[in-house]
Amino acid sequence: MGKVIGIDLGTTNSVCAFMDRHDPQIIINEEGGRVTPSVVGFSKMGERFVGDVAKRQLLINPDNTIYAIKRFMGKRYKEAIREAEMANYDVVETPEGDVGVVVNERIYQPHEISAMILQKIKKNAEDFLGETVEDAIITVPAYFTDRQRQATKEAGAIAGLNVLRIINEPTAAALAYVHERRCSSVIGVYDFGGGTFDISILRVDRDVAEVLSTRGNNSLGGNDIDERIVRWLIDEFERGQGIDVSGDRVVLQRLRDAAERAKLDLSSITETEINLPFLVADASGPKHLQTTLTRNTFEKLAMPLFEETFKECRMALEDASMGPNDLDEVILVGGSSRIPRVQEMARNLFKCPLNKSFNPDEVVAVGAAIQGAMLGGEVKAVTLLDVTNYSLGIEVEGRRMATLIPKNTTIPTVTNQLVSSVVDNQKVVRIHVLQGENPLAGDNVSLGEFELHGVSPAPRGVPRIEVRFAIDVDGIVNVSARDQRSGRSEEITIANQAAIGPLKRDTEDEPDQVLGDDPQLADLRGKVERELVALEALLREQRGQLHQKDIFEIELALKRGRMALLKSVEAENLEELLVYLQRFHDHVQGKLGVGSASVPIH
Ligand code: AMP
Repeated sequence: MGKVIGIDLGTTNSVCAFMDRHDPQIIINEEGGRVTPSVVGFSKMGERFVGDVAKRQLLINPDNTIYAIKRFMGKRYKEAIREAEMANYDVVETPEGDVGVVVNERIYQPHEISAMILQKIKKNAEDFLGETVEDAIITVPAYFTDRQRQATKEAGAIAGLNVLRIINEPTAAALAYVHERRCSSVIGVYDFGGGTFDISILRVDRDVAEVLSTRGNNSLGGNDIDERIVRWLIDEFERGQGIDVSGDRVVLQRLRDAAERAKLDLSSITETEINLPFLVADASGPKHLQTTLTRNTFEKLAMPLFEETFKECRMALEDASMGPNDLDEVILVGGSSRIPRVQEMARNLFKCPLNKSFNPDEVVAVGAAIQGAMLGGEVKAVTLLDVTNYSLGIEVEGRRMATLIPKNTTIPTVTNQLVSSVVDNQKVVRIHVLQGENPLAGDNVSLGEFELHGVSPAPRGVPRIEVRFAIDVDGIVNVSARDQRSGRSEEITIANQAAIGPLKRDTEDEPDQVLGDDPQLADLRGKVERELVALEALLREQRGQLHQKDIFEIELALKRGRMALLKSVEAENLEELLVYLQRFHDHVQGKLGVGSASVPIH
């Protein structure tokens, strides 16, 4: 395996890192920078520029310069109307209901634009390393949905990259932490970037990084702060000059630029001058914008956004069953975490040291590079136990959602549920896959649907249809349904819009081979599953009698068991797992005085 690069594909900037033996290094781009602006510009002749050059043409050619494309990745148009209004370029709804951006009369999909950024990153990495680069780990916000992850993977493929893993940005930051510290603690990763906000609570150990909970908002970042300053500038200008400039794209881009610069200044000084000569002109001559923004006013403008991030933090703590005092450290990630008021609010909430030793712009890419080196066996692997950030389920009678995988379940995971028909002799069952936390199906996000045909005729409620949900290490969902009597099955991988829809197979000739079809394997899987359920019950019933350390060990054994169950298709491995779990169970019972055995568990 050649070098694996770690890419933080950011809303504002992207960063690429690799492991130089045991040390993570940032790849310097061809302009000599450590970060590459996530901006793609097109000339009228169709020439393409990516990065700093594109960013420079934002002011003069805003229509043909695409920035913050990450905000549209994998989104349906109706989910992105607010972002579309903020964009300086043309955003349209494609016939499929997705987002498209228009440049030189051509419509590009967001993942195609992201692929252009990734292509540049790949080329820069190849120039820097002097070798061909194919394998990459790309990070995404923890709160990215399945479609957004798929879109990111697709962008990588278009750019000629073999995307080994998609990992969550805060988890990558935690990996960088584990790599450097190798100590046990509970940490928070507060990641406030240009376009997104994430908070994750993790328990890290020498060789395990376990995500306990994660919350976030995919449409909350530094760009929104800039927008609030822009609004304020528009109002100031209108008050002073009586001219509304909100409809002029070039003016808006100048205001955005000035707003961001003012925001950056206010992280180190308490007031800043905003000076934009010749902003517009009317019959009486040119009009200039000149004003002062104080840190106080800035904080008032941005406070609702800051508060929103801490609301998410409180929920993440609650999800992890933790209080603010339970964290040992909070790592600050993302450029917006440099804002002094944000740091003060973080200190007030978390009552623990804020770790600023990592560069907030680079730590995510570094973590991704470490993950790459772990896969390649160059550095000691840390078991990464990540979680799903949304509940997943199916629509059932009464337009309700039945949850199959609750939010914050460790991934990879697999779960089965039996469903049945709602009318007599029903031959077709529709499986509508949903994502969200609302009891009513219509209030959740629809991920896709498919039909299972050929269900054996029977009275209502009699057929047994096994619905199986699996989430892989990239957080990508696969759903299958199988009529136990007829053996008919159908499945979908929830993918980007283009791929959504039943992956039709000829189920007549070739019934799906689902896990458990081999009788010996099915028997072993059943035994392992029962052992895991028994261990879960033991934990539930005896939690009060167990030490925190034992609880952690049991939870870990359960997670390792579930992971192995998901991956293993070899009878031998399953037998080993079964023996391990049985011994472990005996060991815990021995500790509790319930059983007699006390055996080593490792
Ligand atoms: P990221 O997505 O992590 O690259 O974060 C980029 C965002 O961080 C942009 O909105 C920047 O304007 C913002 N940012 C970077 N440095 C600072 C700073 N010193 N103070 C406030 N915001 C910053």
